[in-house]
Amino acid sequence: MGEVLTNIWDKILRTFQQGNNPLWRHWFEQLEPLSLDGGILRIGVAEESWRQYLHQRCSEGLTSAAQKITGHFVTIEYAMPGERTEADKQIAEQAKPHDNEITYFNPDYTFDNFVVGPSNRLAHAACVAVSESPGETYNPLFIHGSVGLGKTHLMQAACQALKKRNHDYNILYLTCESFVNDFVRALRHGDLYDFRYKYRHVDVLVIDDIQFLTEKEQSQEEFFHTFNSLYQSRKQIIISADSPPSEIPRLEDRLVSRFNQGLVTRIDNPAYETRMAILYNKAALRGINPPEDVISFIAERIVSNTRELEGALTKVYGYAMLGNGEITMELARQALGVESIPRHSQITISQIIDVVTEHFNVKLSDLQSKRRSRSIAYPRQICMYLARELTRHSLEEIGGHFGGRDHTTVMHSCRNIDNLCDHDQAVRELVDSLVARLTKN
Ligand code: ADP
Ligand code: MG
Repeated sequence: MGEVLTNIWDKILRTFQQGNNPLWRHWFEQLEPLSLDGGILRIGVAEESWRQYLHQRCSEGLTSAAQKITGHFVTIEYAMPGERTEADKQIAEQAKPHDNEITYFNPDYTFDNFVVGPSNRLAHAACVAVSESPGETYNPLFIHGSVGLGKTHLMQAACQALKKRNHDYNILYLTCESFVNDFVRALRHGDLYDFRYKYRHVDVLVIDDIQFLTEKEQSQEEFFHTFNSLYQSRKQIIISADSPPSEIPRLEDRLVSRFNQGLVTRIDNPAYETRMAILYNKAALRGINPPEDVISFIAERIVSNTRELEGALTKVYGYAMLGNGEITMELARQALGVESIPRHSQITISQIIDVVTEHFNVKLSDLQSKRRSRSIAYPRQICMYLARELTRHSLEEIGGHFGGRDHTTVMHSCRNIDNLCDHDQAVRELVDSLVARLTKN
């Protein structure tokens, strides 16, 4: 039976790997089939985070693979060592805290999987130090940097390392939004006492994206007291934000000065070599092995944001899976389309405006005006699209150049042009020719 089961499981895994590749992780090989009984396939997992990952992201893919292989509808359950009976599992389920909290960590977000480079060396070292002696070295630890540069990854890595050292550590990791929601709920139900007890009796409190606290005065006030209470009892506090404390709009001065008492460290855009290393790392995590020219091709083109880097890799891989699975330069070029033009940091929005206004024979003031007629809106959208593709400006900044439009408008415009490019040969050619003019120097 053991061998048969292993065989079945192996086939299920291969089927899953072929169909759902971005979700595949190399540690799947370490999963252990325990039993197949009454339509329930039990799989042994070594880490709680693995179980959560499988349960939340791979259920559908694995179940359908299992059905395909066995010819029956099969439910898959995951069991940790020592927790291998149904009764145990139910107890574990009941013990789960509120659902708006992140009660598990992403198994990809470990120190082992984090590529250290000049852009993030300090933040990384600080997180490692904190995970080795919480509450002692850097408290609070404040990590800032723009979106997609690895703040959440580092903070979760610190939490997972802490948990590994001491399973009993009481770690509360949550997004700022969950903190606010939890607080509002406590206010509404009149259980502030419980709320305070919960937050003030942790060993480590981690709040991700604290910039979202700013509009909410009462929550800020509550957070301030939580902070003080934990700080005084030398509990570790780790916070992330998209900018340094003093630049977060409407963050109270007393909180700013509290944050500045500890270590404030920044993550910058990764340099080329780091981007290469990250791509290798992400590829290995998925068990794929793209050729070096493809890796450097992506690393040269996606310069600002690590999440996009990963996205590009996934996209190329997705294309490969549509064909014979082989990743080639040709395919990477195809998959990344306009993205495959190197982002020339020297191209400015005003150059884009010059080229577009000349082509369409419109005035800059028209582009910045509120006018929505197609003759104006279309060139404006083209400008925004080119600015997104060819410069490193954020969507907000791009919107700012066109009459202070907000980022959703810019996003919508870019999508619209994206769409047109896909379906309308003439638009595609126009965009290509404008890009060629802008990038020819
Ligand atoms: P942030 O919280 O700063 O917006 P995330 O932590 O969510 O960013 O990171 C975005 C993605 O980039 C994640 O998949 C993360 O694993 C990856 N990433 C960022 N920096 C690194 C790095 N130095 N090494 C490996 N992966 C990284
Ligand atoms: Mg984050």
